[in-house]
Amino acid sequence: MTAFKEINAPLRTIMTPGPVEADPRVLRAMSTPILGQFDPAFTQMMNETMEMLRRIFQTKNQWAFPIDGTSRSGIEAVLCSVLEPGDKVLIPIFGRFGYLLTEIAERNGVEIHTMECKWGEVFDQQDIIDEMKRIQPKVLAIVHGETSTGCMQPLDKIGPACRELDVLCVVDAVATIGGTEVKVDEWQLDAVIGGTQKCFSVPSGMAPITYNERVEKILAARKKVERGVATEQDRVNVQQPIRSNYFDLSQLQDYWGPRRLNHHTEATSMLYALREGARIVLEEGLQERFERHRLHEKALIEGIKAMGLGLFNDVPWKLPMVTCVNIPAGVDGDSVRTMLLQQFGIEIASSFGPLHGKIWRIGTMGYSCRKENILFVLGALEAVLIRHGAAIQIGQGLQAALDVYESPVVALEASESPYAAVKK
Ligand SMILES: *Cc1c(COP(=O)(O)O)cnc(C)c1O
Repeated sequence: MTAFKEINAPLRTIMTPGPVEADPRVLRAMSTPILGQFDPAFTQMMNETMEMLRRIFQTKNQWAFPIDGTSRSGIEAVLCSVLEPGDKVLIPIFGRFGYLLTEIAERNGVEIHTMECKWGEVFDQQDIIDEMKRIQPKVLAIVHGETSTGCMQPLDKIGPACRELDVLCVVDAVATIGGTEVKVDEWQLDAVIGGTQKCFSVPSGMAPITYNERVEKILAARKKVERGVATEQDRVNVQQPIRSNYFDLSQLQDYWGPRRLNHHTEATSMLYALREGARIVLEEGLQERFERHRLHEKALIEGIKAMGLGLFNDVPWKLPMVTCVNIPAGVDGDSVRTMLLQQFGIEIASSFGPLHGKIWRIGTMGYSCRKENILFVLGALEAVLIRHGAAIQIGQGLQAALDVYESPVVALEASESPYAAVKK
């Protein structure tokens, strides 16, 4: 019989738009002993996690809890719980994840309307508002940080317009939550989905979501409790019950709420991970964390430019945690990525669709977003590009990044500890 060896995963420097390096404190929390999901010690942790998520989403919403599954499970839970056959949905698309929204929405038998802009651009908010007036959809589903193109869609005017036009505003903030502002209440977003394996630095496997009373009203009308756990009051005739059991938010909120209705078995170790990840985000401070992402983004950008490379997303709507580098003419982008991994243990990403082979995407998210990683990736990229015969400015990249870190204007000390990063 073959003897299978114990797992011995290589240590990597992960500079992709996810999954990124998990915070060591999160990994430690994951080895906490299992508790039963109705054990008061565990339900207390569930409640604390909800409270921390509310703060991170900057919302007063009662409902803020994770869906068990990767980030798209959160998107799917929200969309399948609010969408009924025949509903109209408007989806503005500016990259791969906009298409994912259409993909998930259309399986609910709805009428999809899309608008598209060139990859690398975002929408003028007024164009989306005008289209909402024309189509009169029930739901607007939109991506905030589009990791495929490194662009961020402003939402501050879209949210209030949705409220005015009686449209539900559903936002994929998977890439942005915990890394830059996602002002759920101020921007009047009705349902927002976050991710764990991006700026939270928690492994993939949960999707924190939040939603307000406008969504809750729809859920209440569609609520159908599982036969095996239903009481007399639950046995009502529902016209359009939510078509998924697993992603049924009306039952899930009763599992997360005081009723503690039995639904799925909670992913205990992931909840430990999310709780610790959220605690770390709040301990660092939201503003401090956003500034840290900006600082290391700046150092990376300056380094890339000084090397003589071009940025695909050198635009005012650049996503702070994803930097897209144009692959120089004549250079095989995948070969460069392979060499970075094999020789340096560094992982960067390529992109999708029309951008595949044209750009590299370097992520600076969460725990991966720290000074030594930026300097390491710049130094390694220079070495690998020289090996690939690319014409670059030798020796300039690291110096430009160091200039950013040493600049008195920046005055933000990127210390060894990522959590002390922006404390002066
Ligand atoms: C990563 C990402 C997702 C998908 O997340 P999964 O965890 O792979 O399901 C969705 N939307 C955006 C914007 C992302 O960056």
